[in-house]
Amino acid sequence: MKILVAVKRVVDANVRIRVKADGSGVETANARMSMNPFDEIAVEEAVKQKEAGVADEVVAVSCGVEKAQDVLRTAMAIGADRAILIKTDAVLTSLAVAKLLKQIADKEQPDLVILGKQAIDDDASQTGPMLAALMDVPQATAISSLTVGDGTATVTRETDDGQETLQLQLPAVVTADLRLNEPRYVTLPNMMKARKKTIELTAPEELGIGIDTKLSILNVAEPPARKAVQIVPDVASLIDRLKNQAKVI
Ligand code: AMP
Repeated sequence: MKILVAVKRVVDANVRIRVKADGSGVETANARMSMNPFDEIAVEEAVKQKEAGVADEVVAVSCGVEKAQDVLRTAMAIGADRAILIKTDAVLTSLAVAKLLKQIADKEQPDLVILGKQAIDDDASQTGPMLAALMDVPQATAISSLTVGDGTATVTRETDDGQETLQLQLPAVVTADLRLNEPRYVTLPNMMKARKKTIELTAPEELGIGIDTKLSILNVAEPPARKAVQIVPDVASLIDRLKNQAKVI
């Protein structure tokens, strides 16, 4: 069984985001970049399936700038067998990424595709569902457990109504939630080994995909600063403030 995992290079989760002065986007020039945290979980899950003897090959794929090779190397250090970079400097929408991944899926014929449930930069949560639709295969989003066997994947997902268990016919697309696993620590020797591996390079044009420009970012702004917090000594003063100051009760 082959698993394809999509990994995105994003501004590191611990970096304080700065918006560009002209409001055209987020400053990434000198920011530390890392693998999207949900994608680390996706890679970890794929590698776990391989270690359990369920999968025999894990292929990591990323779409983006040349430096996205870094996150592919991290994926290989976690345990992915090989990696593909669809190299482009273009701004990619979820649909563009889904179309590119579909081309790789057509070529690689994976039994399972695992993505993160969302990228922490655009918070779109769209790529997985769009890819499943383009591939015309079943999908389960935000999964918190995965069991593969007999041509099916059984997953659980947390919903507002409780825990849902679904069975999907393979091939299928799933997206990883935080609860799926805890990604392993990437050791230096594994990182060194991953550095020596070659990454297959391709480009949207080679895959016959034009990057769509139907969506444009008009403005990016910092969230408004929070108002100063006041601590009240007891419940009576809180009620008094709500009644007489805020006039909300
Ligand atoms: P999004 O729909 O942007 O929130 O992203 C959801 C998931 O799609 C991510 O966690 C990744 O697994 C995958 N993805 C999004 N953008 C890319 C990209 N440029 N390269 C590879 N995978 C991506």
